[in-house]
Amino acid sequence: MFLNALNIIFPNKCVICGKILDSVNDYACKNCQKNIQYYVCDTEVKKADIQYIDLIFSSYYYRGIIRKLILDFKFKNQKYLCRFLASAIAKAMKNFTNETTVDYIVYVPISFRRYMERGYNQSYLIAKTISSELHIPIIKYNLIKIKHNKRQSELGIKMRNANTKGVYKVLNSKRFNNKSILLIDDIFTTGNTVMECSRVLKHSGATKIIVATVAKADGIFKN
Ligand SMILES: [Zn+2]
Repeated sequence: MFLNALNIIFPNKCVICGKILDSVNDYACKNCQKNIQYYVCDTEVKKADIQYIDLIFSSYYYRGIIRKLILDFKFKNQKYLCRFLASAIAKAMKNFTNETTVDYIVYVPISFRRYMERGYNQSYLIAKTISSELHIPIIKYNLIKIKHNKRQSELGIKMRNANTKGVYKVLNSKRFNNKSILLIDDIFTTGNTVMECSRVLKHSGATKIIVATVAKADGIFKN
């Protein structure tokens, strides 16, 4: 009722085509939904075969409209896209409750220099949205980035592993000791970033790490 009234005052628009939507709970119109469906990737939360990570999933493939929305969100200050981009992760967490119960949500940090350039950490915004939707506390400023490194996207596959080594640090490991964590990032490419963060978190005593990213790059950037 309240939400419907709100929708009249601030009409909810399709994040892709801008068409006004009937419900505040929707993000995209029926037409655009069909296109998004095409990019949905792992619908199941999978056991990770990656060291330090227990479970891993991405909501979409990093292609087409999803790729555009993430780039707009990340580089063009389109922060309103956050709710849409976070929604599929939150939904997956709800659908797999048995396996996905966690104590805390943590996000992949960015360097101070990058923060000053961009003005926000896109992964933090996604994590914050998921935190309020799932009522799981978010831990800020405890996993931090201590070195400014090159963007992973600027490097070849072989250089990416070295680029992330020793870049992240946990300030107070007691906060993560014996805790299970949902770690959020925007894009999964080679996995080096989330693996290095997970390694640091596990060394701080975290018992379980679930990694969730909005999208997974599959090497084929088709539109
Ligand atoms: Zn639309």
